[in-house]
Amino acid sequence: MTIRLIPQISDLRRELDAARSEGKQVGFVPTMGYLHDGHASLMRAARADNDLVVASIFVNPLQFGANEDLSSYPRDLERDTELSAMAGVDVLFTPTVEEMYPNGAVMTSVSVNELSTRWEGATRPSHFAGMATVVTKLFWIVGACRAYFGEKDYQQLTIIRRFTADLSIPVEVVGCPIVRADDGLALSSRNTYLSPEERKAATVLNRALRAAAAVIEDGETDPEVVMETMAGLVDAEPLANLDYAAVVDPETLVVPERIPPVCRLLIAAQVGRPRLLDNLGVTAPGGAQ
Ligand code: AMP
Repeated sequence: MTIRLIPQISDLRRELDAARSEGKQVGFVPTMGYLHDGHASLMRAARADNDLVVASIFVNPLQFGANEDLSSYPRDLERDTELSAMAGVDVLFTPTVEEMYPNGAVMTSVSVNELSTRWEGATRPSHFAGMATVVTKLFWIVGACRAYFGEKDYQQLTIIRRFTADLSIPVEVVGCPIVRADDGLALSSRNTYLSPEERKAATVLNRALRAAAAVIEDGETDPEVVMETMAGLVDAEPLANLDYAAVVDPETLVVPERIPPVCRLLIAAQVGRPRLLDNLGVTAPGGAQ
């Protein structure tokens, strides 16, 4: 089947309602475009599990701060359409900003307390409310479905799981593993901003995560020691500027007093123009699998 681009909410609803009334299961992959193999992995997972796969491409102004890269965010709809088709997407939802926000500035916002204020939320205060608002809107537009998100944005995934449950939205949220380049760098649309030297330096995020995981796997129980391991490695890389390096409870995202059986390592650093994120799940010795 060839991929179809649908820019109108009403057309998409009609199509998906008709599919569901025939008993089809809908899979949904929301993105901001400039797609790479990380996005394609979500699309392939949606293809494997569902009868009809819809992906969206929408660079959501609400989730960008005043000094962020909204106007320069990379875009390439032709390439994105090709990649989506190759990954098995049936329908690409490509609304304009006017289609999504016909009344201009929104008066309604979805905000998730506590989970949204730390880590990314501390540096980007309005980011998660903007993200949660557009994802809620997209869930209402697409309707009952399975929706696929990358663990690459771990805090985002945690917040999406939470408001979907809190608001009883009829969407099953599916988390998918991080896709990395051969040298360990997590794929990201913003990697395109990196110079060749910065691209090399950017691998320090994943190196720091792996070093910290090894420290935990060797039996360290003090979160401070683990966090210092990550911070030390990033500080030694002159082109990287650490924002945070933390070991957290995988659900509350709070730093525990002692390393729990299963934890998540979170890291963010500025490397040249982009702020880069990465994370890793770790099981401590004797911890549950
Ligand atoms: P974005 O276009 O950056 O908003 O990302 C859209 C979706 O793709 C989100 O669920 C991201 O977590 C996911 N994603 C982005 N990069 C990766 C990656 N390297 N591996 C897996 N998923 C990713």
